[in-house]
Amino acid sequence: MAKSKYSNDTLLENCLVELGLETLDDWFDLGVSENGPLDSVHFGACHKCAAVSYRCEPDMRNGWCEECNSGSVEAMGSLAGVC
Ligand SMILES: [Zn+2]
Repeated sequence: MAKSKYSNDTLLENCLVELGLETLDDWFDLGVSENGPLDSVHFGACHKCAAVSYRCEPDMRNGWCEECNSGSVEAMGSLAGVC
């Protein structure tokens, strides 16, 4: 994958804001790491433009970004290193 303009932390932060959460711990509390309620609604963020995408595969690393039209979306689980 091309080098990201954004750090994983920055992209995760964007996802958390979209989810209405404050910290990654809040996200884990939702059970996301054990097929919890968020299993089918993983978010991800684009390495090129930092736009947040919805319904990512949990371990997605090159998902399609509709904002900048490139396969640069990485899922939260992957960004956080849990998938
Ligand atoms: Zn993008």
